[in-house]
Amino acid sequence: MASPCPAFATPIAVPRSTLTSLISSSSSCTPRPVRTPAPPTHRRLIHMAAPAGTVASTFRRTVPSSEAATTYDYIIVGGGAAGCVLANRLTEDPSTRVLLLEAGKPDDSFYLHVPLGFPYLLGSPNDWAFVTEPEPNLANRRLYFPRGKVLGGSHAISVMLYHRGHPADYTAWAESAPGWAPQDVLPYFLKSESQQSAVPNQDAHGYEGPLAVSDLARLNPMSKAFIKAAHNAAGLNHNPDFNDWATGQDGVGPFQVTQRDGSRESPATSYLRAAKGRRNLTVMTGAVVERILFENPAGSSTPVATAVSFIDSKGTRVRMSASREILLCGGVYATPQLLMLSGVGPAEHLRSHGIEIVADVPAVGQNLQDHAAAMVSFESQNPEKDKANSSVYYTERTGKNIGTLLNYVFRGKGPLTSPMCEAGGFAKTDPSMDACDLQLRFIPFVSEPDPYHSLADFATAGSYLQNRANRPTGFTIQSVAARPKSRGHVQLRSTDVRDSMSIHGNWISNDADLKTLVHGVKLCRTIGNDDSMKEFRGRELYPGGEKVSDADIEAYIRDTCHTANAMVGTCRMGIGEQAAVDPALQVKGVARLRVVDSSVMPTLPGGQSGAPTMMIAEKGADLIRAAARQADAATVGAAA
Ligand SMILES: Cc1cc2nc3c(=O)[nH]c(=O)nc-3n(C[C@H](O)[C@H](O)[C@H](O)COP(=O)(O)OP(=O)(O)OC[C@H]3O[C@@H](n4cnc5c(N)ncnc54)[C@H](O)[C@@H]3O)c2cc1C
Repeated sequence: MASPCPAFATPIAVPRSTLTSLISSSSSCTPRPVRTPAPPTHRRLIHMAAPAGTVASTFRRTVPSSEAATTYDYIIVGGGAAGCVLANRLTEDPSTRVLLLEAGKPDDSFYLHVPLGFPYLLGSPNDWAFVTEPEPNLANRRLYFPRGKVLGGSHAISVMLYHRGHPADYTAWAESAPGWAPQDVLPYFLKSESQQSAVPNQDAHGYEGPLAVSDLARLNPMSKAFIKAAHNAAGLNHNPDFNDWATGQDGVGPFQVTQRDGSRESPATSYLRAAKGRRNLTVMTGAVVERILFENPAGSSTPVATAVSFIDSKGTRVRMSASREILLCGGVYATPQLLMLSGVGPAEHLRSHGIEIVADVPAVGQNLQDHAAAMVSFESQNPEKDKANSSVYYTERTGKNIGTLLNYVFRGKGPLTSPMCEAGGFAKTDPSMDACDLQLRFIPFVSEPDPYHSLADFATAGSYLQNRANRPTGFTIQSVAARPKSRGHVQLRSTDVRDSMSIHGNWISNDADLKTLVHGVKLCRTIGNDDSMKEFRGRELYPGGEKVSDADIEAYIRDTCHTANAMVGTCRMGIGEQAAVDPALQVKGVARLRVVDSSVMPTLPGGQSGAPTMMIAEKGADLIRAAARQADAATVGAAA
């Protein structure tokens, strides 16, 4: 076997003469020190220069399996939000050898880096594009579920909103998972963060972490009007910082986003980029893990995870071993799938697929949670004028409007920096609640009632573009059940890892979630009808002015409810039967196997799930390193 090549030794090569002077080029495998990120304008130029090429990738070259070692200290399965964090933290110690296996590609698409490229990512090769089973509470519709298939994972195709949730979320976690209370998790949020805001708040934010969190580079005039309207019409006060736990989540305002200098910041562009050049980190893309392999050591009844089997980018089946631990970071669907395929899960279900049982862990695949959402949309009063405010208008013109392009490339500003959802807030539909059950998200264009249906079409068939002459301008306010009570589950469809899981979201099966959304639709209507929105507002398109009774609104929600992309919980951590992993994230019934990703969340923190996932991985890295130190000390002790 050829000698191992360091994972990220090849610097970005730019095949355009106009850019070659900006970035150096080499194909050598000689190890290099950690790279200094290119200045912002250079980075944005790189992103624009090669929409379909490799130039924009965080890692241009990852290692083929034939060039890699066969044993590592740790094998990380999945290079998404959590996997990138672990890859970085565990390789800080140069003596620790880590292999990161990612099924998707490097993040080489232009649309992954330019914030307003978001809708183009849905249904693209960077999206697993899952579909649920018919949903019984949603008129038996099958819902489209985007999930990232690329370095950076789902976060690389996300809307970039940065939310940690509320201390009450983690107080609830700690009831079943000691060690995850607010005071335990806050240091890890801060460790992850590189806050970019000009307004300092040292108590609430981290400034030294890898992940850039920024104020919006531009706030749409309609988003500004929404903030005013929410105050006037609904009494929601301006909240300058939704992530400051001292002041709480209630209120409205502009959201903060994971962006650096106006470009998307993903776990790959932050955590993985910072680890570029480390010889002890090997990254393989196009590597689809299919099984975790166990051994039964003599004298112990606990199976030990020792290796993984995967199909590499050339289609070859490869086996690689981990001398310390295997770390599952495949996310909310792939992690329970891999556990089940490897014999860890609900015994009866596994037997029905002819899978040999390694450990009967009934909780694997249960406890699926997501943000159910519903839309209220208004047509514009002055369609031509409001085109200038509509982010869809700019999306349609991406790459075509030279002024917009130059503003983005040279200043990191303007409409191309928009995450599409710029402002919003949190509210309690019942004042006696501990934490807000409703999130509002303002979207400066007219969305279909189920936008993920149309955005997927947009990405795959270009229907948004084709239909733009008929698409009205206007605005949308989305209601999200921020702390859902409904629970779903996932199951195997077959024993082939390439078959997606059978997803039963079970949205609004708990009436409390439906109640939250009905309240939300009414509130969005009230806000949309406030005088502050007058200059932008024409007719109400969705649900439509004739739908006023609770029964009508409920029916509208059942017909149009969609995901707000926060699926978590399918390998719940905690103590007892309902948990799949213990509070140290170790899979029950086996040894040397942890789950470190969004699937361990016992409940969904109100707000988006990306920041909590990276917090889990930051804390997970410390737990893993502590266990290694303990094991080493025990070995030394035994030898002495
Ligand atoms: C469209 C969309 C919008 C979102 N918007 C926001 C937002 O605005 N703010 C926010 O905080 N969060 C947002 N999220 C959620 C956030 O991205 C996720 O919570 C987070 O990425 C979950 O991290 P994870 O590590 O658990 O999984 P992921 O990030 O999904 O990573 C899992 C990785 O494992 C890989 N993988 C899967 N199967 C295999 C296999 N068999 N072998 C090898 N690799 C495999 C996948 O390709 C993927 O890269 C959004 C998500 C989506 C999809």
